[in-house]
Amino acid sequence: MVDYLVVGLGLAGISFCEKLEAEGKSFRVISDNSQQASLVAGGLYNPVILKRFTMAWKAKEQLEKAMPFYQGLERKLNVKLDEKIPVLRKFASIEEQNTWFEAADKPGLDYFLSTNIIKNENPSIDAPFGFGEVKHTGRIHTNTLIASYGEYLEQNGLLQKETFDFSCSEAFNDHISYKSIKAKQIVFATGYGLKNSPFFNYLPLNGTKGELLTIKAPDYKETRVVKSSVFTIPLGDDLYLVGATYKWKDKTNMPTEDAKNELLEKLKTFLQCDFEIVNHVAGIRPTVVDRRPLVGQHPEHKNMYVLNGFGSRGVMIAPYASEQLFDYIETGNELDSEINIDRFTKKYYSN
Ligand SMILES: Cc1cc2nc3c(=O)[nH]c(=O)nc-3n(C[C@H](O)[C@H](O)[C@H](O)COP(=O)(O)OP(=O)(O)OC[C@H]3O[C@@H](n4cnc5c(N)ncnc54)[C@H](O)[C@@H]3O)c2cc1C
Repeated sequence: MVDYLVVGLGLAGISFCEKLEAEGKSFRVISDNSQQASLVAGGLYNPVILKRFTMAWKAKEQLEKAMPFYQGLERKLNVKLDEKIPVLRKFASIEEQNTWFEAADKPGLDYFLSTNIIKNENPSIDAPFGFGEVKHTGRIHTNTLIASYGEYLEQNGLLQKETFDFSCSEAFNDHISYKSIKAKQIVFATGYGLKNSPFFNYLPLNGTKGELLTIKAPDYKETRVVKSSVFTIPLGDDLYLVGATYKWKDKTNMPTEDAKNELLEKLKTFLQCDFEIVNHVAGIRPTVVDRRPLVGQHPEHKNMYVLNGFGSRGVMIAPYASEQLFDYIETGNELDSEINIDRFTKKYYSN
């Protein structure tokens, strides 16, 4: 009997496994590659909402947990995961510059928003009103993390690469059985795959498809993230990620021509140098109706839990939400009411 069975090895599953290991709990992981969000993510951590110049939900608290978390993983896995990069927000007008300055005066935001206007000196960009700089931002190499964490678990015999087959699981009072595994608790961290779960599919996970291009643009010569109508994120070797789209209907991981054209159209409003497309990826963000994570205990099966709903900010939210869930299960600490799935219990009983 192990303490935990974790289903899903994206940012959510990895963060929870790390908490389990730190607390000396035994566990096994089952994951497939049906969902791609953590693999294809831009990986940015940026606590400021760049549309409105406001702080994202609990962003400072999350960042304070996320930074040591990824640093710890770098040491453990011996890989580079965290890259500090400032984010530049292109201003569209003088009014926007003024709104930025007002925001930069506010407590909390003042730590992140630089009060200097950065003049555009890059001939490849059209930005007559310059940029505002967000500080203390960066990028986690999520695909490196997923690959090396998977290897680490495999070397220790803790990972089974397969699709969790719900017909092979049984819930008892004091444990869950799944094929030959018996676990005291099971945590589903399956991202948009939650839709296939007979236990948690009552939860209002919408899912938002996102697509990203990789371009090669030798003349761009930009070392910072630039946010205009799209993001460009430097990858080195003249490569840049461009994204992302937000689409609510299509729930496949297939890149589409439509999204490519949309990204190119937006990119060309500010990037004025030649480039070629070298890659195109897509994934489904696990987004929730009320824009808060889905964390907590199943209404009937008391040893069954969910860790999901990180939307477009999984990098920052995952370590925070995992700690919340672990403390809730093991020490009985209250979950933050905004993330607790008990806010949707009525839906469970009305289904
Ligand atoms: C294009 C794009 C760009 C993004 N950019 C950013 C960004 O810059 N910064 C940021 O913070 N966030 C970003 N995100 C959001 C981020 O990717 C998500 O918030 C995060 O990855 C969600 O992690 P997760 O572990 O909950 O889900 P997932 O990454 O979807 O992982 C779930 C895992 O569970 C597995 N699984 C599902 N069902 C089963 C099953 N039945 N059996 C076994 N395994 C199963 C899946 O295959 C997958 O491995 C982006 C997302 C997209 C799509």
